[in-house]
Amino acid sequence: MEFADCVRNLKPEGAYHMLARAQALEAQGRDIIHLEIGQPDVPTFENIAQAGSQAIKDGHTTYNPPAGILPLRQAIAEDAGRRRGVEIDLSEVVVGPGAKPILFFPTLALVRSGDEVLYPDPGFPTYAAVIDVAGGIPVPVPLREETGFAFDLDAFDRLVNARTRMVILNSPSNPTGGVLSWAVLEHIAAAAHTYGFWVLSDEIYARLAFDGVPVPSIAALPGMRERTIICDGFSKTYAMTGWRLGYGIMPEALAERVSLLLTHSVGCTATFTQYAGIEALTGPQAPVEAVVAEYQRRRDVLVAALNAIPGVRCRMPRGAFYAFPNVTAFGRSSDWLADYLLDEAGVAVLPGTSFGPGGEGYLRLCFANSMENIKTGVQRIAEALGKLN
Ligand code: PMP
Repeated sequence: MEFADCVRNLKPEGAYHMLARAQALEAQGRDIIHLEIGQPDVPTFENIAQAGSQAIKDGHTTYNPPAGILPLRQAIAEDAGRRRGVEIDLSEVVVGPGAKPILFFPTLALVRSGDEVLYPDPGFPTYAAVIDVAGGIPVPVPLREETGFAFDLDAFDRLVNARTRMVILNSPSNPTGGVLSWAVLEHIAAAAHTYGFWVLSDEIYARLAFDGVPVPSIAALPGMRERTIICDGFSKTYAMTGWRLGYGIMPEALAERVSLLLTHSVGCTATFTQYAGIEALTGPQAPVEAVVAEYQRRRDVLVAALNAIPGVRCRMPRGAFYAFPNVTAFGRSSDWLADYLLDEAGVAVLPGTSFGPGGEGYLRLCFANSMENIKTGVQRIAEALGKLN
């Protein structure tokens, strides 16, 4: 079939592919431990779920403005601004059905055919997809393990130029768990002022940070608000992946364009979902803190167990809920190893290459899973890898 250029290169996310393979084995009766999927294993917190179902009962089931309902946008402006130390005006807040539309639509609104867009490699696969659909030229910037999976700034300096229209950042990072420091952000901000590019800062894991590590936002640096789009949402922080609720913070003129794209694509975000979002932001935050503390305990167990496997080297992720061990010592590709671990150990993990060529030599394991599954999973991985040596 003939397709338009903009969709020809689209590929599914690696996680879906691995999930399908794992489910096929389960259908044959195999016991599979799922460490491939990137979502909280806890249900949406009770107070939020209640607010959502109450909103349905109260009749909040009709259309609402494309940029979102006012009280939610107000709550976002207040919460997102306070957490980042910036003043956010209501006119800069756009609500969408998940964080993904906030990656897609601002890119579509800003990137013109032939514009270059820098993005992290390894990185969330949606970045390369949206750049491609927009007609931009994807320019991967390597993340380096030695620098805690921050951008290789030498490579960044070589790749950035007057044709750079946008730079995509993701901190804490999926898949590496790396967190960008002020120093790295200042370096990128200085380049933004020199070359005049936009920054799309995917901060969806900002609340999932460990060991008290600060997660700075580039939007807080002088002169960056007017060239930054903050992408954030409810999926990870509040265990709301299926509710589809995210938001962006961007200059008003861009927010208007993005709202028009929402108008003509999805119309608006589900109304009762947004009421649940108000409760998420303004209600008690103790459940979030408890879950993050639990993720940290699981991270500690998983990373220690991975590092105890001969040939595996795993840095401590500082945020998000992924471990990204280096498995180059086995002399096999990441793809081969992920398939082998599924078939041999019954553990589903993702090859690092699901996140771009820069992920070769790594695997991604999600630790938003029960302690029991993590312990059993890593033990089975250790046994299977032991057979390779
Ligand atoms: N950005 C990153 C880095 C993610 O990992 C995800 C979810 N996997 C998203 C954005 C999309 O979030 P949502 O489900 O809210 O659209």
